[in-house]
Amino acid sequence: MSLFLFYRQIRQRKKYHTIALTDYLTNSLNRRGIMQIADNLLANKPASIAIVDLDYFKNINDQFGHDTGDLVLIKFAQAAKNTLGENDTFGRYGGEEWLFVLNTLDSQEINNTFENLARNLSKYCSNIDALPSNITITFSAGVATGNAKSNSLDALIKQADKQLYKAKENGRNQIIID
Ligand code: GH3
Ligand code: MG
Ligand code: MG
Repeated sequence: MSLFLFYRQIRQRKKYHTIALTDYLTNSLNRRGIMQIADNLLANKPASIAIVDLDYFKNINDQFGHDTGDLVLIKFAQAAKNTLGENDTFGRYGGEEWLFVLNTLDSQEINNTFENLARNLSKYCSNIDALPSNITITFSAGVATGNAKSNSLDALIKQADKQLYKAKENGRNQIIID
């Protein structure tokens, strides 16, 4: 009996651990989850960090309702899951911002990944009934490769954020790698 309780406790702990690291809406890693994984990955080998932010997302909420905005976030997470390689990962960093950890330092590869993500995102979002077909959901991304001076997660995120800001300034729907 006590062995039964012991294993049940282990299972429950695992369950709560998973819940604590999962974003409820999109069923992807939440900020705590992706930060933990990013830290672990960077400790082992260099990787690239991208901050991705949906373009004009407030307009989507305002024009088509908050529920439609929620659906776009769900589709984004599905598109990202199906686009990334098995050694890449992502999570919801906050609101409509996402943090990606890519197992490459190669700009061309990073560009290809985000081009594929853009294509998949627009394909997945075309299934949302409440979104008119002339509306395309796009994102901007700032990327810091592990080639940066410091490989600390905080430094890479700051660097990626700067590039994201430039991508927004430059008209959105693009990625800038540094
Ligand atoms: P930009 O292209 O400059 O990024 O413009 P934006 O409108 O995307 O940026 P802004 O930061 O002004 O808007 C982000 C919006 O995201 C505002 C907020 O209401 C919305 N948002 C954040 N979290 C959620 C969510 O969980 N669901 C929905 N539907 N909207 C959310
Ligand atoms: Mg934002
Ligand atoms: Mg935005």
